[in-house]
Parts: sequence; C-alpha cells; structure tokens
Amino acid sequence: MAVLPIYTDGSPVLRKKAQPVTKITDDIIQLIMDMFETMRKANGIGLAANQVGILQRIIVIDVSEVEGCEMIKPVAFINPEVIADKERIIMEEGCLSVPDVRDEVERAETISLRYRDTNFKVIETELTGMFARVVLHEIDHLDGILFVDRLSPEKRQVHLEELKKIHQGEIEVDYPVVTAVDANE
Ligand SMILES: [Zn+2]
Repeated sequence: MAVLPIYTDGSPVLRKKAQPVTKITDDIIQLIMDMFETMRKANGIGLAANQVGILQRIIVIDVSEVEGCEMIKPVAFINPEVIADKERIIMEEGCLSVPDVRDEVERAETISLRYRDTNFKVIETELTGMFARVVLHEIDHLDGILFVDRLSPEKRQVHLEELKKIHQGEIEVDYPVVTAVDANE
C-alpha cells in the first residue's frame, strides 16, 4: 500500500467530475487500498478519488473514531448515489484538500444511498448523522464541489485569506500534498 499525495484547493482535478467505475480491476482494488492508507496517514474520516488525482467515482470513509460512530466499519463506496434524503442539519466540516479551514454547512441529515461494493454488487442502505454527512461531502468531491462552495458569501469572506494562501501553495500539514502551484506547473 502507498500513501498518495492529496491535491489541495486550486488544483484543477478537484473541479472535475469523476467518471463511474465500469468494472472492478486490480488497479481499482489497489487504488481503494491506497486511499484508505492515505486517509489514515492524514487523520481524515473520508476521502474521494479526485483528492488523489483520480477521476473515478470512489470514496472511502472511516468514522470509527468519531464519537457515536464506533461501530461503523471503514467502507469504500463505488459509484455512490443519493436516492432520497430527509431533514436538514447544520454541522461543522473541514477537508483535507482545504487544510485548516472549518465552517458550518447545511446538508441532509439522513440519506438513502445506492452504491457498489468492492465485488461490484449493488447495495442500498440508509445512513444518518456524521456518516451521512461525510458521504455527502465526499460525493460533492466526485462532482467537483468543495464544502467551501456551500458557504454563504459572507461566511466565505471570513476564509478568503486562508483560501488565498492555500491557492498559493502556502500549506503546512503533516501529510503529502500536491498544491495548486505544483498542479498547475
Ligand atoms: Zn473534502
């Protein structure tokens, strides 16, 4: 397994739409294992393939260290789709691609999710709370959307300086990154 560098805000790959996976190959399995390794190295609770520069609809989630989610096992969702949602809730979010920026985002509290597992079997499940929240954040990544896009203009204004620094590649984190400056070279 390998720790992959995480692309940060300003990198074009974060703004592209990822394509559905059409079949499970050794490369896909390897990518999923590397994504888990990368997420753990960065102490993240979710990671989308766009964030490691791959435009395939794959996300990995591990919320087992979040209070109240201890029983939820780490999982990979392939081609995840929200088929229904209910209730809205505001929660604070952060993102490995937007280091050190945190703010409150409103999203659905409970979702029905359809996805394929690593055997390419179609599964439908209902998720709620932090688990649903992370999945919605990661599906946004697959569509080229970052959580800061969902902030009101007033709230985004508060983070303007931080975002500018990230765009300029001024990032201090303890995991490998590809900054916008590297990505655009
Ligand atoms: Zn993110």
